Amino acid sequence: MNSVNKAVILPPAMLGILGGGQLGRMFAMAAKRMGYRVMVLDPDAQAPAAAFADVHLCAAYDDVAALAALSECAAVTTEFENVNADSMLWLAQSTRVSPSGHSVAIAQDREQEKAWIGKAGLPTAPYKVIAAADDVCADCEALFPGILKTATLGYDGKGQVRVRNQAELAQAWADLGKVRCVLEKMLDLRSEISVIVCRLNSAQMACFAPAENQHIDGILAYSIVPARLPEALQQQAQQLACRLADALDYVGVLAVEMFVVGEEMQLVVNEMAPRPHNSGHHTLDACVTSQFDQQVRLMCGLPPADTTLLSPCCMANILGDVWPAQGEPNWLAILQQQAAHLHLYGKQEARVGRKMGHFTQLATSADAAFDLAKASHAALK
Ligand code: ADP
Ligand code: MG
Repeated sequence: MNSVNKAVILPPAMLGILGGGQLGRMFAMAAKRMGYRVMVLDPDAQAPAAAFADVHLCAAYDDVAALAALSECAAVTTEFENVNADSMLWLAQSTRVSPSGHSVAIAQDREQEKAWIGKAGLPTAPYKVIAAADDVCADCEALFPGILKTATLGYDGKGQVRVRNQAELAQAWADLGKVRCVLEKMLDLRSEISVIVCRLNSAQMACFAPAENQHIDGILAYSIVPARLPEALQQQAQQLACRLADALDYVGVLAVEMFVVGEEMQLVVNEMAPRPHNSGHHTLDACVTSQFDQQVRLMCGLPPADTTLLSPCCMANILGDVWPAQGEPNWLAILQQQAAHLHLYGKQEARVGRKMGHFTQLATSADAAFDLAKASHAALK
């Protein structure tokens, strides 16, 4: 069955991607720049990646004919974790697929994800699986106040409810539709960081500098890089992320979100994403190699290239919220900056909470970059 050729894949080979959102778009731009051709599978005719694809398969993610077309690509990857892991396993029978359907399936499910994080010897928040009415019982007491999260399909803070006692837990579980959930203890967060790992195999692995992530209403607003943490803690975060990638025998780009907890600043692994991550967009403008270039390299069997951060920076997301009733945001707020890079994703409709673009502000320090980014962002409206 193993017809997969493990040789390095070179341009102008055709690379396939499941999903054509902004991450797929930036992947396609990187691949095209390097001279590869790109095939995108996305059911949306307006998919942001379609503008940069040689072929846009406008079909469902489990469409048999579309998957057959994708299987003709030299290699296939994905840009979102809620892709059908079975589609990836099926594709893997005839072409090179990374990350593996197995890794993607783990990252799709908070219960499995936590089990694997534990298996890799890494700390998670104390938690309990809530899958049946009987699970809402006395031994939840130690987890209050806590957060109830659906095991699957949560993102940007959706599918989560904060609970203080058993009655609230029972109500929250009912409100979430009595689906399988994870109840996590609420931790005393000092900051949130993420580490992006690029792994071909155990000997060929590299991490980007940790990003410090600030959310507004559950959605990433700013990533400040490097994270404003002691050097030793930054290194420890990178080691934890590498250990998780090794435990999964991961191939590709893996984002690992962590909490910095309490006065002791303990690192706790929160969740992972089996793809480039919003908190890694600064790598396009502030690192030797971007996370999307790395995604292309790794799926093609090339080792990760240099992840060095060339300048402190701050990435700010641009959500649909900043659009006025008529017209466009004040783009000059960013374009008149000497060291800011604007990225817009070509989405037609600016809805509240929708990620329309981002910009990365470089500066001589992380604090200065953050201040400038906040000022430019405020001036967009
Ligand atoms: P999502 O898939 O929506 O990103 P997360 O598990 O990352 O879900 O949770 C969203 C946010 O909720 C986190 O970025 C963090 O701010 C907060 N959060 C999640 N879990 C905890 C926890 N155990 N303790 C404190 N805050 C938490
Ligand atoms: Mg998260």
